Amino acid sequence: MLVLASCAGDDDASSAAVEPTAAREVVELTTTSTTTTVAPTTTTLAPPLDFDGTPRVMRTSTDVIVPVLGEVPEGYLVRTTCQATAVVSDGRTEERVHVVLDPGHGGLEPGAVTNDGVAEKDVNLQTALLAEERLEALGFEVTLTRYTDIRIPIVTRVEIADQLDAALLVSIHHQGTDTNIPRSETPGTEVYYQQTSSESKRFAGLLREESLSAFGEFDIEWFAGTDAGATYRPHRNTGEDFYGMVRLPETPAVLAEMAFLGNEAEVALLRSGELQAAEAKAIADAVLRWFTSDDPGSGFVEPSFGLLSSGGGGGLDGCVDPDLGTTVAEDSELVEELDGDGG
Ligand SMILES: [Zn+2]
Repeated sequence: MLVLASCAGDDDASSAAVEPTAAREVVELTTTSTTTTVAPTTTTLAPPLDFDGTPRVMRTSTDVIVPVLGEVPEGYLVRTTCQATAVVSDGRTEERVHVVLDPGHGGLEPGAVTNDGVAEKDVNLQTALLAEERLEALGFEVTLTRYTDIRIPIVTRVEIADQLDAALLVSIHHQGTDTNIPRSETPGTEVYYQQTSSESKRFAGLLREESLSAFGEFDIEWFAGTDAGATYRPHRNTGEDFYGMVRLPETPAVLAEMAFLGNEAEVALLRSGELQAAEAKAIADAVLRWFTSDDPGSGFVEPSFGLLSSGGGGGLDGCVDPDLGTTVAEDSELVEELDGDGG
C-alpha cells in the first residue's frame, strides 16, 4: 500500500525570494459573459498578445517544454529540465502566452496517492489538459509546464512561465490522503495567492468562486479544511509565501488545491473524470473573468497556520533530464556566449 500523507505542495525553501511584478496590461473587452462553453469554432475572447518573433520556449519532439536561451546553426540552445544546457534541433518553438498551467508533481514524484493507486500527478495533468482545451477554444494562448509524466524541478517550472512572459501562472494540485479533514456541504478548494500581488489575489478569489459554481453539479459530502477559500500560506519563520510556485515567479501566480484525495466521494468523481472536467471549467472561467473583468473574486480567508516544511519535492537533487529528442553535443563556449541574453 502506497500512501503519501500530503500533497507536499512543491516547496523549494532553498531558493531566494523574487518580488512578483504587477500583471501585464490587458486590453479591455466589451464582453461581460462569464458563461463559457467549448465552442466548435474558436471565438476569440482573449486579449491580443504582442508577438515579437522571439522564440521563448521549445516543445521538443518528445513533448518536453524547455526554455530557449538562443538560436544556433544546429537548432536552439535550451535550458534542460534539470537546469543544464543543450542544443535541440527538433521541435516547435513558442512565443508569448496568456497563461501557463502547471500540473503539479510528475515522474518519480507522484504527489499524493490513494491506497488504490490514484496518483495526484496524473489527476493534475488531466485537469490541466482539459483546461488548456477550453482556454484555447476561447482564443487564449496556453502552455503547460509538462505534457507527460516527467519530474520537473520548481525552478524550471517557474522559468518556463517567466520566459513566456505569461500574464498568469496556475499550479494545479490535489490535497493529500489525510482522512481526518472535516466534512462539508461546500467544496474545500484552497487557492493560495502571492501576498504581494493584488492580481494573483484577485485570480485566487475568482478561481474559488468558479470552483464552487462548477462543483455545484455534484451532490456529495466534500472535505473542507480551515484554509478552504482564497488565502495565502506563509512560511512559519520568514513569513514569505511558503510554496515555491507562488514565491518564485515574476508572473502573477497561484497554487490551487482543487479537491481531496482523502475523500472517497471526491476520488470517485476523479476516477470517472467528472471532477477534472468541472475543475477545468472552473479554471477556464476564472481565467476569462480575470482577463476581461474587474471582478474582485470572493471567498477570502485568513491563513490558519504557517508551514516549515511540506516534506520536500521539487528540488534539483537527483534530477534526471528527460529525453529531449534530437540533441547535439553542448558547446561550452557557445553556451557562455548565449546564456543570459534571455532568448
Ligand atoms: Zn500537490
